[in-house]
Amino acid sequence: MSQSLYVGVDLGGTSIKIGLCNDKGELLRTFEGPTDTDQGTDKIMSNIAAYVNELVPPGTQEWDDVKGVGIGIAGFLDIPNGIIDFSANLPPLRNVPVRQIMEEKLAKPIKINNDANVAALGEVWGGAGKGVQNCVCYTLGTGVGGGLIVNGRLIEGFSGMAGELGHMSIVPDLEAIQCGCGQMGCLETVSSATGIIRMGKDAVERGDRTSLSLIETPLTAKDVIDAAKAGDEVAQRIVSRAAFYLGKSMAAVAVVINPQRFIIGGGVSKAGEYLFEQIRQVFRKYSTDAAQKGVDIVAAELGNNAGVVGAAGLFLYA
Ligand SMILES: [Zn+2]
Repeated sequence: MSQSLYVGVDLGGTSIKIGLCNDKGELLRTFEGPTDTDQGTDKIMSNIAAYVNELVPPGTQEWDDVKGVGIGIAGFLDIPNGIIDFSANLPPLRNVPVRQIMEEKLAKPIKINNDANVAALGEVWGGAGKGVQNCVCYTLGTGVGGGLIVNGRLIEGFSGMAGELGHMSIVPDLEAIQCGCGQMGCLETVSSATGIIRMGKDAVERGDRTSLSLIETPLTAKDVIDAAKAGDEVAQRIVSRAAFYLGKSMAAVAVVINPQRFIIGGGVSKAGEYLFEQIRQVFRKYSTDAAQKGVDIVAAELGNNAGVVGAAGLFLYA
C-alpha cells in the first residue's frame, strides 16, 4: 500500500542523523554516521546521500513512498535557493548549493532550513506542540535558538531572521554585555548555557560567597542550576536572571504573534519545573491578561530527535 513518507536530515558538525517519518510526524527509525567535516564538502554531501540510502534503500517500496528529504543546518542559509552561505559548525561549507547537489544524488525533492526552525517544527509536528497551530519554541543551549509557527506555518521572515529569539536585545544597557552577534544585551547573553556559565564564573571571580567556588572542574550550566536548587543564593540569582529575561521576552512575543504555547528545549531546559515556574511567573507578570489567557509554557518532548522530525516536516509545514 502506498503511503507518504518523509526523510529528515540533521546535519551537525560531528555527526549526521537521518530519520524516517510517516505523515503523522511519527519517527519510524533513524540512522547516524560521522560528518567527516575535515574531509571537505564533497565528502559531507556523499555521506548525507549514503546515510539516507542506508536508512531507506533505493528500489524499495518505502523509497518510492518518500516524498522528500529535508535538511536542518546550523548556519547562514539562502533558504529559498537551497544554498548554505556559511556554517560555523561545518567550516568547509561555504556557498554550497546543497539542494541542487542532493537532488542530483537522491532524485528526491530537497528542502533546507536552519536547525532552530527545524527543531521547532519537529516539536510542533510530533512533540510538545502536536495539534497546536500557533507555537513559539526556544532552544536553550550554547546559544538561544528560536522558531515560530503561526497558523500552522513556519515563519522565516523577509531574510530568514524571523524567530532569532536569542538575539532579542532585552537586557538594559547598564547591565548589558556584548553578544556573539555583535549587538548588546541579547537574550542569549543571559539565558543560554554559555550565559549562565559566564555569570557563575563572574560571581566566583568577584569573590561572592557561593558553593560554585568549590567546583574544580570547568563550570557547567548544570552546576549552577544544581547549586541553585540546593539553596545557593548566588546561583539562585543567576538562574532567576536567566528565567526573568526569558519570561519577559515571551511577554513581548505574546503581543506580537499571540501564540497558544511556548515550548522550551535544549540542555538548560533540563532544569525542569524549578526554571519553568519562574519563567511562567515573569511571563504572567509582564503580559496583558488577554495575551496570556489560555497560554502555556511547557518542556520540549523530542530531545535530540526534534531536528530530524522537523526536517522531515519541512514538506508539510514550510
Ligand atoms: Zn546577539
